[in-house]
Amino acid sequence: MERYYQKEIECASRDEIRSLQSRRLVEQVRFVWDNVPYYRHKMEAQGVTPDDIKGIEDISKLPFLKKDDLRDSYPDGLRGVPAKECVRIHSTSGTTGKRVVAYYTKDDIELWNDCVARALVAADISDEDVVQVCYGYGLFTGGLGLHGGAEKLGCMVLPMSSGSTERQLQFMVDLKSTVLCCTPSYAAYLSETINETGLRDKIHLRRGIFGAEAWSDDMRASIESSLGIKAHDIYGLTELSGPGVAYECSAQKGMHINEDHFLAEIIDPETGKSLPLGSKGELVITSLTKKGFPLLRYRTRDICILSEEKCSCGRTFVKMSRPMGRSDDMLIVKGVNVFPSQIETVLIQQGYSSNYQIIVDRKNNSDTLDVMIEMTSENFSDNLGKITAQEKSLVSELKAMLGIYANVHLVAPKSIVRSEGKAVRVIDRRKI
Ligand SMILES: [Zn+2]
Repeated sequence: MERYYQKEIECASRDEIRSLQSRRLVEQVRFVWDNVPYYRHKMEAQGVTPDDIKGIEDISKLPFLKKDDLRDSYPDGLRGVPAKECVRIHSTSGTTGKRVVAYYTKDDIELWNDCVARALVAADISDEDVVQVCYGYGLFTGGLGLHGGAEKLGCMVLPMSSGSTERQLQFMVDLKSTVLCCTPSYAAYLSETINETGLRDKIHLRRGIFGAEAWSDDMRASIESSLGIKAHDIYGLTELSGPGVAYECSAQKGMHINEDHFLAEIIDPETGKSLPLGSKGELVITSLTKKGFPLLRYRTRDICILSEEKCSCGRTFVKMSRPMGRSDDMLIVKGVNVFPSQIETVLIQQGYSSNYQIIVDRKNNSDTLDVMIEMTSENFSDNLGKITAQEKSLVSELKAMLGIYANVHLVAPKSIVRSEGKAVRVIDRRKI
């Protein structure tokens, strides 16, 4: 376990961390300049060359990468090495339906697994533990990310993936799982089911690693008391590897960023200007070591606060608060990124008006997504008898675009409430 609690790095002085980051940044900028023409052109357009970057103090000279850049460079314009040197991809949805494809070399996977293993050790998990991973496996990074880190640590891993609650509970009891990894809403759902079915005395859980969606300290307290565990947050993005960019230690007050691999900044989302430590703003992350998909100054759109305050665990890595919102209109529903523009794209492709409303709610601790679509007057009277069939077809089109189910309701013209003449596009009723 010592190997994954790298005290000399995780508890180094701030000066040592900054000097390691500076060295790595200088190398990474040179690597990207030489290997990623898309980003080199952005640097050239800004009149910057690798010679201008002598340390982390020069970071703000570099151009940002935004989600639009990831879309424009689809499918491989930001890849840092030939495809042959990559061993895996993961993917996430983009703003207009085009997916973002992230590439990993063998080393990238090892580094990612190390970051996750560190996160587990910080939550007091060891090779004695049985880790039940209920994040989805596949293009989504949750499943394979937690899996890789837990296996590297020497835990016994149950690669359950998401869903099949009955089977999850059977294995949890029979194989004596001690660690649960899933979204906080699924953890809450499992805990309710466990208590309702009288399994509370038969489970052996002691820790939870919950991420991929927003949750509150109230929700944490309720999951912790109903399952008898300590619940830890984990943060990450597919664009930057996946879960494990930042992790919560025993203090459970903010997440330490793995600063030997990631350089974090906070900017004003409106002006793009860097903000001093302690300010609330948009988190921007530079990947210092990844080679398959080496993103520099990636705008995460997550709003948070960074803090260098001394942590009771002894780690000196900077801490980020839990994301407090987004600087764009992305919603996270059932752990999946959903952009209203994706829904709009489907509606327009299918010949519907762009008068729609998205309602997100949380029922029985599970997110729900409802899409109300206004029909035009002629459509409404002509097709009254066929509405169910049309709704069904939209459900499957939306599933193909978003990866999750949405309830579709075709509604009468002018029935969506407008405020100041404009339809309110998104209503998020979740109390989180
Ligand atoms: Zn700590």
